[in-house]
Amino acid sequence: MHLPGTARVTPSGELAIGGVTAAALAERFGTPLFVYDEALIREQCRRFHRALQATGLDYQVSYASKAFLCRALARLMAEEGMGLDVVSGGELYTALSAGFNPAHIHLHGNNKLDTELRQALDAGVGCYVVDSLDEIARLNTLAGEAGTQARCLLRVTPGVEAHTHSFIQTGAEDSKFGLNLGNGQAAQGLRAMLDAPHLDVLGIHFHIGSQIFSTEGTLAALARVLEWLAQQRADYGFTAQVLNVGGGFGIRYTDADQPQPLEDALAEIAAALRAGTAEHDLPLPQLWLEPGRSVVGEAGWTLYRVGTVKAIAGVRNYVSVDGGMSDHIRTALYGAEYEVALANRMDEAAADSYTVVGKLCESGDVVARDKPLPHPQPGDLLAVSCTGAYHYAMSSRYNAMLRPAVVFVQDGQAREVVRRETLEDLVRGQE
Ligand SMILES: *Cc1c(COP(=O)(O)O)cnc(C)c1O
Repeated sequence: MHLPGTARVTPSGELAIGGVTAAALAERFGTPLFVYDEALIREQCRRFHRALQATGLDYQVSYASKAFLCRALARLMAEEGMGLDVVSGGELYTALSAGFNPAHIHLHGNNKLDTELRQALDAGVGCYVVDSLDEIARLNTLAGEAGTQARCLLRVTPGVEAHTHSFIQTGAEDSKFGLNLGNGQAAQGLRAMLDAPHLDVLGIHFHIGSQIFSTEGTLAALARVLEWLAQQRADYGFTAQVLNVGGGFGIRYTDADQPQPLEDALAEIAAALRAGTAEHDLPLPQLWLEPGRSVVGEAGWTLYRVGTVKAIAGVRNYVSVDGGMSDHIRTALYGAEYEVALANRMDEAAADSYTVVGKLCESGDVVARDKPLPHPQPGDLLAVSCTGAYHYAMSSRYNAMLRPAVVFVQDGQAREVVRRETLEDLVRGQE
């Protein structure tokens, strides 16, 4: 198993993260358990800052909190000089309740509710990523009522869609997000925003996909947006102070994933931005980014306890753990691949191939399919790596499962930042 960050195998063959063994974590906090390598999260934030500083551009980097958010994480992001992207009143509330500076929060979403816009305006949220024509008038009215100017970006759909290894340029621009560059809606939106007295238009936003391994798609989108911006300047005299190119930087879940190093990707994006603005004789905007997965994904681990082992001769070996699709939905949802190991027997050679399944009432409740492991025994600890992004955040209460605890580990210390749900939590608010 690949060991990111501070994860190590101890001389006695145990997995340790942040200097704490998996066995000690499971003993103290129970399983299933989400464990975050705090030093690795911080290092990822610092890599973004260093790489962006190296470009010489003015920049901002905001963490896309949908990947994983709790109050401790919001505070950590503030300490690391990151902004925070939120997409709902709930994420906004969580960030504010952690004391996160609202001026460094950006509100996203293709259907921001009036209640969410009011909540954000009252709090003094720093930037609105405007996503639709309908939103423009509503945000303008609500900002006027709140007696404030809403600083905003217009989200555009550049007709480029990125996938892990490739990208496609689509004429159709079929997306629920943003306004199309190709059919004139983006220009219509920009004009409406410039005419709205309570909106302060900082610039343009696009985000073309997730778990992207190379910059080709982003560079293609950037080229289209800069060409469009040159047209907008000619038509309306608009110049963008900010260009937000989204997130989507890929991470290594398994050996099959070979993302380009962040540093190289950011250098290429910055070079293309300089070249493209020079070509169109546009002023150089600030470069804004909003990574989620790449900040927290590899820093997160899930620990499960093995409960039952079933061999179906000639067919498959099943290992059942004490969580499943309620805390690990990405495999069921899109066949995402993960590496697994027996955290208490890291030094043992694989004996056979095993499919790790959860305890929920769905045959699709799979954590990892056909993975090499030593013969698992009930009571073993099973670790899944790279579960830091879109796991806890996508967890559910299917089968009335309790959401696991989340712990941060660093320098041999563990702290519970989210407590495990209790049975009382399950029925809270019910008649
Ligand atoms: C999801 C999302 C991100 C973050 O994506 P990652 O793949 O987690 O980096 C950033 N911006 C927008 C608009 C998003 O929807």
